[in-house]
Amino acid sequence: MREQERILGAEEEEEDGEPRPVRSYGIARGGVSHEIDLDELENEPARPGTRVARVAAAFRGVLEALDLDLDDPNLTTTHFRVARAYEELFAGLREGAEPVWKSFPNTERYSQMVSVLDVRFFSLCAHHFLPFFGSAHVAYIPGDQIVGLSKLARLVDFYARRPQIQERMTEQIVACLKKRLAPRGAMVVLQARHFCMEMRGVSKPGVLTTTSALSGLFEEDRVRQEFLSLLPSRTSLG
Ligand SMILES: [Zn+2]
Repeated sequence: MREQERILGAEEEEEDGEPRPVRSYGIARGGVSHEIDLDELENEPARPGTRVARVAAAFRGVLEALDLDLDDPNLTTTHFRVARAYEELFAGLREGAEPVWKSFPNTERYSQMVSVLDVRFFSLCAHHFLPFFGSAHVAYIPGDQIVGLSKLARLVDFYARRPQIQERMTEQIVACLKKRLAPRGAMVVLQARHFCMEMRGVSKPGVLTTTSALSGLFEEDRVRQEFLSLLPSRTSLG
């Protein structure tokens, strides 16, 4: 296989069950890593039959339907760039993308709230395929298991990197925490800006949408208030 085909084909593959970064086009040969110009590669045709090739073909149809001049040098390979961007933006859909979790026994019997605040995320709304982005605040009260804090941030990314709606994403994170950790309680608050509301439709720039989901001990007002008091007080997001 020619080197370029091998590199381009790699975007559909995984290593050891771990999803590989979609833009990781660097290859090792003889133990030496060769830097490759990513901006050049993203313009290349995709390997036939791959998802990138199928999305690119479909998006080319969108460009044609818009009656755009596909001989314009800025547009001739746009469909390949869009398809590769989708691979990255929707990485949560890939087989094996779910974060691998190793939870630990809660040997210290830690019984208070664990929270990770202000986890920035980017997603695309399932209704318009326009970006929504913001900040996630995740908390749980351990039962018998605890988990590495970075895993909570990875969980946010996993659910953000797909066509998504904010309400569902909020619920999915709490449901996943319940399933994997059996905590005594879990709560998630998302604050986000939606471009489908800012640059089209009602056209209200900067509006912040807040959603929350909770379970277990967070049903208690005192516990919920403790978490809410930790959140950054903000009325806007940059
Ligand atoms: Zn939308």
